[in-house]
Amino acid sequence: MTQNEIIDFMTSLQQPRFRGRQVFSAVYRRGCRGFMEMTDLPLGLRHEMDQAAEVGMPEVLSRQSAGDGTVKLLMRLQDGSTVEAVSMLYRLDRSRDRLTFCLSSQVGCPIGCPFCATGKSGFVRNLTAGEIVGQALVLLEEAAPGIGDAEKIGVNIVFMGMGEPLLNLEEVLKAGRLLHDPEGMGISWRRITISTSGVVPGIRSLMGEGLPINLAVSLHAADNRLRDRLVPINRRYPLEELIPACREYADAGGRRMTFEYVLLPGINDKLEQACQLAELLAGLPALVNLIPVNPAGEEEQSGSNPADAKRAREFARVLKGKGIGATIREGKGGEIMAACGQLRSREVRER
Ligand code: SF4
Repeated sequence: MTQNEIIDFMTSLQQPRFRGRQVFSAVYRRGCRGFMEMTDLPLGLRHEMDQAAEVGMPEVLSRQSAGDGTVKLLMRLQDGSTVEAVSMLYRLDRSRDRLTFCLSSQVGCPIGCPFCATGKSGFVRNLTAGEIVGQALVLLEEAAPGIGDAEKIGVNIVFMGMGEPLLNLEEVLKAGRLLHDPEGMGISWRRITISTSGVVPGIRSLMGEGLPINLAVSLHAADNRLRDRLVPINRRYPLEELIPACREYADAGGRRMTFEYVLLPGINDKLEQACQLAELLAGLPALVNLIPVNPAGEEEQSGSNPADAKRAREFARVLKGKGIGATIREGKGGEIMAACGQLRSREVRER
C-alpha cells in the first residue's frame, strides 16, 4: 500500500491521518514486520490493527552468500509462488559500500530468451507492487543487517531479476513510487533502473510517466536475424522500431541509455558484430554493458562458455574506437547462480 492508501485505511478506522504516515514509515523505513513492533502507536490501536490487517512480507526459504558479498534469496509469496532476488555489494572506497538490489517483477518470464534460466521456465504471473517492494525490504534486512536505512547506504535498484518489467509496468511503477517515497526507503529515481528486452509500447508508456528512471535494453545482437533468436520479442518489435523508441526515451530524459550485451562466444562476439553494433547505436547517447555469459543449466551443456576476457576487451575497444561508451560488467554472484540469466525459482524449476 502507498502512503495515501495507508492513510485512507487508517481514517477508515477513525484514526487521524498522521497515524497513516506513522504506519507507512514503520513498515517502509524501519522495516517493522508486525503492528506490535510499532511502539509509537497506542497499544489498543496496535491490537485493533492486528485484527484488521497484516504486514505481509515474502518469506525467505533459502539464503546463499558468495565471497564477493553477493547474497541471493529465494522467497515464497503468499500464494506459494517463489521468486529470487539478489543483493550485490560494491565497495566504492574503504569507508563506503553501495548495495545494488536486483528485483524480480514476474514469476517466470514470457519472453523466453534461450540463454536465460528464467526464460526457460515459462511464465506464471505478474508480481504485485507489494511483492516487489517486499523483496527490497527483505534484502535490506537480510543482506545488510544493521547497516541502516536505504537512503544512508545508497541502495541502487535494478529491475533485472526474473521477468520483463515493462509487461508489468503498472505494478513496477507503483513499486518504484513506494521505494522512492522520502518517508519510506527514500531511493532516488536516478538510482532505479528498469531493464527491458525491448517492449516498445512499454518504453513509450514509461516515457509518458516523465520520471527520471534509467532504462536499460537487453540488446544482445545488432541485426534482426540473430536478435530474433536471442531475444524472441524482437520478432514483434524489431530493431527498426526499438532503436527509435530508445532515441526518444534518451531525448526526453536527456540521459544516456544503457544497452546490455551478453557476449556469447562464436554467436555475437565477432569484431564485425561490434562494428555493426556501433553503427546501430551511432548518434545515441549510449553505454554498452558487455556481459560475459554465465552458464545457465542446459546452456552450459550446449556449449555456451564464458567469453574470454581478451575478446571482451577487444569488443569494447572497437566500440569505444567508434565513439560508443562500453564497459565490461564485473561478474557478481556466479558461484551461487545469482548472476545475469541465472535466476529461476525453485517452484518453476520443478515444472
Ligand atoms: S533475459 Fe530477461 S526477458 Fe529474457 S527470458 Fe530472461 S528474464 Fe525474460
